[in-house]
Amino acid sequence: MSTEFDITKFVFEKKFECPVCSIAFSAPIAKYGKSRVVSQDADLKQNYSPFDPIAYDVVVCPSCGYAESVDSFEKPVMDRIKANIIEVIRPKFCGHVYPMEITTEMALERFHIMIANSEVKNGKIGTRAYTYLKMAWVCRNAEDIRESIYLKMALDHFKEALQKEAPPIAGMDSNAVSYIIGELERRTGDDEAAIRWFSAIVASAGAEGRLKDRARNQKDLILQERKEKEAEAAKAATAKKKQAEGAADEQDEKKKKKFEWF
Ligand SMILES: [Zn+2]
Repeated sequence: MSTEFDITKFVFEKKFECPVCSIAFSAPIAKYGKSRVVSQDADLKQNYSPFDPIAYDVVVCPSCGYAESVDSFEKPVMDRIKANIIEVIRPKFCGHVYPMEITTEMALERFHIMIANSEVKNGKIGTRAYTYLKMAWVCRNAEDIRESIYLKMALDHFKEALQKEAPPIAGMDSNAVSYIIGELERRTGDDEAAIRWFSAIVASAGAEGRLKDRARNQKDLILQERKEKEAEAAKAATAKKKQAEGAADEQDEKKKKKFEWF
């Protein structure tokens, strides 16, 4: 029996009609029933086995570069926006045809084109934030160091969305978005900010119990890691001190010996 990876088990070509330029084309789409979620990361990334369908969440029109999520691609687009896409997006992004097997680079490019479209359409900031988060997840799957860049982009956009847009933001209520912001602060290295966001959720009357538990866990994780770091630093300082004392003793010994010569 062959153990070779067969992409057609997980992906198929689906026909679409572009709502902007009316061309018919086929695009690779994931068969969602073929993979199952085996775990979830603290920033809500779902980990699939045996195949992650995330790179197939976007459809890009090869003719005009219009890009949207699979579920929304064929929704009608207003004439004014169509004209903007033809003018701004088409010259930059026409001619992108994707094979069944989408690489990390292609996945990032497809999400990037979707974000460019969202900006031209004046789409929701929260949706762009979520797209940046997906780009970070694509990088995490590939152990690509650009993950941190996209986490930061997602963080900035979620913060802006929370200020400017009414929930739901990317399908989440404001407490869930606050949790994501806290977790993205933690992952991008601002523990103090993360603690503030998590503490606010724990204290919030409106947040649901499970979300409070998650926030509490992540806050505890930061405090625990901090304790461990402090303990390690103290240990290192003691070792350094001992080493210095040892070196001083050795010096004394040498001096003694030196005197013995005379
Ligand atoms: Zn098109």
